[in-house]
Amino acid sequence: MSQLNETHDPALQSWVGSANLPGNGFPIQNLPYGIFREKGGSGAFRPGVAIGDKVLDLAALADLQPWTGLAAEALAACRSDKLNGLMALGQKHWSALRLELSRALREGSALQSRLTPLLFDRNQVEHDVPAHIGDYTDFYISVHHATSVGKQFRPDNPLLPNYKWIPIGYHGRASTIGVSGQTFPRPLGQTRPPAEGAAPHFGPCQRLDYELELGVFIGPGNAQGSRIDIAEAEAHVFGLCILNDWSARDLQAWEYQPLGPFLAKNFASTISPWVVTLEALAPFREPFRRPAEDPQPLPYLSSPANTEAGAFNVQLEVLLTTETSRQQGAEPAKLSSSNFRDAYWSISQLVTHHTVNGCRLQPGDLFGTGTLSGPDQGEEGSLLELTANGQKPLTLPWGEQRSFLEDHDEVILRAQCSKPGYPTISLGECAGTVLPANA
Ligand code: CA
Repeated sequence: MSQLNETHDPALQSWVGSANLPGNGFPIQNLPYGIFREKGGSGAFRPGVAIGDKVLDLAALADLQPWTGLAAEALAACRSDKLNGLMALGQKHWSALRLELSRALREGSALQSRLTPLLFDRNQVEHDVPAHIGDYTDFYISVHHATSVGKQFRPDNPLLPNYKWIPIGYHGRASTIGVSGQTFPRPLGQTRPPAEGAAPHFGPCQRLDYELELGVFIGPGNAQGSRIDIAEAEAHVFGLCILNDWSARDLQAWEYQPLGPFLAKNFASTISPWVVTLEALAPFREPFRRPAEDPQPLPYLSSPANTEAGAFNVQLEVLLTTETSRQQGAEPAKLSSSNFRDAYWSISQLVTHHTVNGCRLQPGDLFGTGTLSGPDQGEEGSLLELTANGQKPLTLPWGEQRSFLEDHDEVILRAQCSKPGYPTISLGECAGTVLPANA
């Protein structure tokens, strides 16, 4: 488990001035990793670390060979167009690199003059997905989401009996995961027949939705047949990003039984460009709580460290723009906000449960947390919940209504960690836009 160290000192200031502005989200205490290149350029995508409104080119920094030991090995893994090599190295290497980056970017660093030419404006770069994602698994860890969705289908029995014992998940598809800014055509598919025995309808999805989630990037992983003990689980987690699991509700309702989501979920998934390490999130750890009346996790899903500090205080929000709102220059409409700490299962539990049968996890694998809805009104992480499956349309500030997403709608997910006396740590933004269906 990551402990607090000198990189978390809230008093640290960077020689990159914008990193010291209150609330900028990318202070020297954050240092998230991503893959970037100059916007519209033909240059190679390469790893970078965000600092204020800049990104530091880690591939170019590797050429300078400024360090020795574990940090040098970690930096050498950044001579790549993806972060998989760095993810594979593990916690000691990640911590060593973070420490050297923190020292190099601090006010007074002897490396300032050598690093300055390696900085790019963040608004002048474009991103690729941070890793080659071999496998993608989506979980369902908000009991509030599971209960409110379950109520729509089973009013008397919203939560299935396995929910409080097993972190429920399904294997998703990695091939259509894109980085923030992703656009995709409205999916086509089959929807439920109007009457039993009739043929299903075929056409563009009519109930297109988003899901507010976090993504978890896996580090070293395990050999097939082995399992990751919960005490070791976080050593296999590189960091977190924001994830939008776009969902076609009408396709889902017709296809999901008996084997679960299929084409309703795999036409597009969008992630934020920056991966914030668990080490950077250490100041925002919280106890992992279970209501006393609920079953406590089985021993293999429980550890003292998980109970003491297995949850994270990450504030999440959903915003929407439409073709009309953009034409009018209106501010994005805030649809909801919630917090990751209200999840029913922790990151450690997901890693441990996923491998308990001997399933292999590999560097760059991605977990989705599932829709992170909170307990209260205004904390719904999908339109399915916000509009009661389309029955209570939202009225947007500029007068339009929405039951589900319409063509050219843009969904923006944001996440950040903040508390008094500590700089705000941003996970950035995850935006995506729905295009009309292909004929
Ligand atoms: Ca999902």
